[in-house]
Amino acid sequence: MALGIKFTQLIPLPPHRVYFQWDLINPTEVGSYLFQIERSGSSAGPWEMLNASLPNSYNYIDDLSHQPQLPVDGGVNLYGLNKQIYYRVTVIPPSGCQNGAQTPPQGLYTVNIPPVQAGLRRRLLFDEFRILRAYTGADLVLFKKRRWGERCPLCYDPITRAVVRENCMTCYGTSFVGGYWTPVRTRGRVYPPKNIDSKTAPQQKTDSGMSRIQLLDIPLLQDDDLIADLDSNDRFIVEKQQQTELRRKPVHQEVTCSLLANSRVEYKILIDPRTIPSLF
Ligand SMILES: [Zn+2]
Repeated sequence: MALGIKFTQLIPLPPHRVYFQWDLINPTEVGSYLFQIERSGSSAGPWEMLNASLPNSYNYIDDLSHQPQLPVDGGVNLYGLNKQIYYRVTVIPPSGCQNGAQTPPQGLYTVNIPPVQAGLRRRLLFDEFRILRAYTGADLVLFKKRRWGERCPLCYDPITRAVVRENCMTCYGTSFVGGYWTPVRTRGRVYPPKNIDSKTAPQQKTDSGMSRIQLLDIPLLQDDDLIADLDSNDRFIVEKQQQTELRRKPVHQEVTCSLLANSRVEYKILIDPRTIPSLF
């Protein structure tokens, strides 16, 4: 099967930004992948190149704050719900363009939700940002696990396809160099683990208890992604992601995670909050 690419999220980040993320389908090649990001006012183009060679990435934030604001001047902005913005992403695998793939053009307000709900979503997202920042939110750093790219030279066995070292500092047990993509900073609510015993035995080797974390739905998390709580320095692995229904809670996702034991290699990933882009 050939390489493919599809959008998994395309969402306005009020007031001036657009967030999107994609997944590769069947990324069997080993090495570095390049992405081209394009934007247009129409699904038929012409396309404006926003980034011609973005290496190894799963998401993009388009900052429209420098775009002209008036509807008559033809600039792209987020204020007119009836004016569409389209994006498309092209992937170039290590073997070159001839084996690349491209998403179909995706309109900002057609991808998930009709315009009225898009307006509602924008309002709710704004409120949610405010509430999390002011009252209840924990400061979280989200790491999407690498699922393609450069294999770890130290511990990946290409014949058995097994990871042979558990505490590898090159791939953190994921078998891909770096382990995780560039992290994103956000806020969320962390509900304590149900297994109370784990709290009384901090030296235990096994992971302790399941926690529930509610957070904004950007970026969309998947199983095995990593969440770090900057306040407590707890690190969690996502076990189950649930998109909450649009009508009830349009801006949330809820994940069930296991709290990792202190001995785990995931705690060795250095986090410098000042260098991590924030969604707020
Ligand atoms: Zn490794």
